[in-house]
Amino acid sequence: MERLEEKILLEGTALSESVLKVDQFLNHQIDPQLMYEIGQEFKERFADANITKILTLESSGIAPSVMAGLLMDVPVVFGRKRKSLTLNDGLLTAEVYSFTNQETNQISVSGKFLQADDCVLVIDDFLANGQAADALIDIVSQSGAGIAGVGIVIEKAFQEGGRMLRANGHRVESLARIESMAEGSIKFTENGAHTHANI
Ligand code: 5GP
Repeated sequence: MERLEEKILLEGTALSESVLKVDQFLNHQIDPQLMYEIGQEFKERFADANITKILTLESSGIAPSVMAGLLMDVPVVFGRKRKSLTLNDGLLTAEVYSFTNQETNQISVSGKFLQADDCVLVIDDFLANGQAADALIDIVSQSGAGIAGVGIVIEKAFQEGGRMLRANGHRVESLARIESMAEGSIKFTENGAHTHANI
């Protein structure tokens, strides 16, 4: 997705060879117009998948997911990282080691929001080692629902997550795929974001 790549180049900062800061438009301040276009792109890419629900993770997965949900006309559920007194309906949980915070969180989703006849699209802002996406997939599996695939805004293709998810047979659609980063430089993969299994 060209506009997303341009935005990353213009406003993103490679903090190291593995961490990208995009708090100008995705992780702190949010660019609603770009989120809308991201939602459109997810809708187009998964048009054949009969999606009935989107599952994401708080907090940075919510903005792109809500736009995709609006355009696909399906509800959006987000996994919660903190326990809450109101979160008590047949909880589905999974452990996730956070790449950015370097701590393990238990994420929870109320079982009442995922039904066995749902076809779920998992969306997240970043794909690094695949822990977050894997935990969301685990939660979908616990519910008995089907998984349409994984939609990622920014995949860091030099980390293991994409390979692992695709090797496990999941369809992964990433709107921007970064091949490598160094301080002050970000390089995208040449085959663009339209890559599926077997890469
Ligand atoms: P994974 O679970 O795939 O290792 O990492 C994905 C999660 O970690 C995402 O939910 C995202 O919040 C966070 N993350 C991973 N890499 C980056 C990064 O380079 N920049 C930012 N801002 N978040 C990241």
